Amino acid sequence: MEKKMRAAVYLGPEKIDLRSVSIPEPSLGEILVKVRAATTCGTDVKTYRRGHPKFPPPFIFGHEFGGDVVKVGKGVERFREGMRVTANVFAECGECFYCKHGQGNICTNLIYNFGAFAEYIIIPDPIVRRTAFEIPSHIPYAHAAFLEPLVTVVHGWNKVAIQPGETVAIIGAGGPISLMFLQLALRAKASQVIAVGHSPARLDVAKELGATHIVNAKNTDTVTAVRELTQGYGADVVIECAGTKQAWETSVDVVRRGGRVLWFGGLPGGTKVEIDAARVHYGEIALLNMHGGTAEDAHEAFNLIVSGAINFAPMLSGELPLEQVELALKKMIAGEVVKMVIRPES
Ligand SMILES: [Zn+2]
Ligand SMILES: [Zn+2]
Repeated sequence: MEKKMRAAVYLGPEKIDLRSVSIPEPSLGEILVKVRAATTCGTDVKTYRRGHPKFPPPFIFGHEFGGDVVKVGKGVERFREGMRVTANVFAECGECFYCKHGQGNICTNLIYNFGAFAEYIIIPDPIVRRTAFEIPSHIPYAHAAFLEPLVTVVHGWNKVAIQPGETVAIIGAGGPISLMFLQLALRAKASQVIAVGHSPARLDVAKELGATHIVNAKNTDTVTAVRELTQGYGADVVIECAGTKQAWETSVDVVRRGGRVLWFGGLPGGTKVEIDAARVHYGEIALLNMHGGTAEDAHEAFNLIVSGAINFAPMLSGELPLEQVELALKKMIAGEVVKMVIRPES
């Protein structure tokens, strides 16, 4: 008889159903992993609320995890049964125009892999080969699950290249992405890291992780606050993590002349942002964009996890069983939590 597992299946906006589905069999180059911890993410929240243009339902939800290899397909050499592993949600093809230009993050044949909110997940061949890693014994599964968001942070990080002594403002602070940027900025010896956000609970975590200043944008004018903290100049570097039109525009308003803005959070297609062209041009403001990360970024991110450079514990706000994935996402939406851990076995 075919073996079954429980899985949280995404059926459309605000529709997730816990179902019994077949445990998949690993094909050539694939591995089957028993999920020990999966984490909720901003992308899950966006998809839960309004769907995802690239991924039509139904599919098993979730994409960040750590677990144990329970079966390997033919041709797999790097992994064997019993290994603790994590993997990125995507891998580049290595063959297309962009991959050949070292820009695998914008590969036209990116392979994605969902299905972490389930008892088992299959890792497809290109991910097994390029962006899957064995977790050393001292790293908890839930910390290794940060690989995918950290890959994108590393990709953006290498673009902004923060220097010691620089002032950094993070717009949309409090989510996991912003809190990882915050920690990297402090590690790079930024003189100030100003966390601008809306959720008091999340801003508390930013404070706990070392933000030098907290600005609650609900009751404070962000531009005035950041200017006051930077002798009227504005921040050397602004990292936008909110993914809203307003945050994109505010970022340009709070950066100093000659500074750099990284727009991290994606906006829906067709969105137009209004920026003062003269301020950007004559002020020589660098507007940096990014999307995803390369296999190389994945290696860098994994090394950061292993080295203990990032403090993950304060970003994990609690644990819930597979039955309560929706509750976990609702807590994210309410801004009550940074990330929740889903434990399929409990
Ligand atoms: Zn994610
Ligand atoms: Zn490619």
